[in-house]
Amino acid sequence: MEKTESMHRNDIIDICKRVHANGWVAANDGNVSIKIGPDTVLCTPTGQSKGYLTTDQLIKVDMDGNKIEGSLEPSSEIKMHLDVYKNKTGVNAVVHAHPPYATGFAVAGVALDQCIMPEIVIGLGSIPIAKFGTPSTMEIPENIRPYLKEYCVFLLENHGALSVGSDVFQAYYRMESLELFAKINLVARLLGNVNVLSEDNVKKLIKVRQDFGMPLENYPGCRVDGRFIKEPATVVEALSTKDLINEVKASTTGKSEETDRTLKTTLDRNQSPNISQGLSRADKIEISIKNLIELITIVVNNVLKAGK
Ligand SMILES: [Zn+2]
Repeated sequence: MEKTESMHRNDIIDICKRVHANGWVAANDGNVSIKIGPDTVLCTPTGQSKGYLTTDQLIKVDMDGNKIEGSLEPSSEIKMHLDVYKNKTGVNAVVHAHPPYATGFAVAGVALDQCIMPEIVIGLGSIPIAKFGTPSTMEIPENIRPYLKEYCVFLLENHGALSVGSDVFQAYYRMESLELFAKINLVARLLGNVNVLSEDNVKKLIKVRQDFGMPLENYPGCRVDGRFIKEPATVVEALSTKDLINEVKASTTGKSEETDRTLKTTLDRNQSPNISQGLSRADKIEISIKNLIELITIVVNNVLKAGK
């Protein structure tokens, strides 16, 4: 069911209260909007705390920022919201706030672009920093625009953060993910070590994203050693024949009764798709005649040994 304007008004107030309660804004900071029609955007008014807004205080503007309805004035940052709607398809909501951990990174000039946590790699890829722009001018939207195609969450240099979504809850949750990621990242830095995921592991996570049905087109990826990884793991992680034989051999030393089970497990591991771990397994393995004979010999010898 399509939401009514009244429902959208309630949603904005709901999100504003969460943003305020989370401590992501002080005084009149922050703004939230929803595109409710082809040429209509519902947004928060300027000069009001997000913690105490009421639905009748929200403002309706057209796509050029002209006020259509409301007694207060629209947010001074409405230009930033409208520019996002004009330049990124599929976006129907924008949230802007100053979450303190994320904003700390924006002030430090440190992008949250390393491949560190699975949820961020899968959901967002990474978070860039848009260059500083004077609030309420076109400088901010112009500096965000280069990142719009690939990203859904942005740090605004020396200012705060912006998130976009197909609805206002998605935009809000993306901001929540950003802030928690920034907090965890800071704690790891304070502890003196940030382990970046390996390229192989990142590719497996991107494969999980693909398996979830999330698009890889315009996916920004994340950084490992100065390089952005955007491609999913394509191959198939079948054990090599050599590994297979070594595994069987290893399992037979002193544990011959377990050989068959080990071999079976090994083969199963090669044959069954393991979606829960996000790994694609081959549905067949290749083995040379020589290696097959070696493998069978080991198994038969163990069966004979076990029978004695
Ligand atoms: Zn701001």
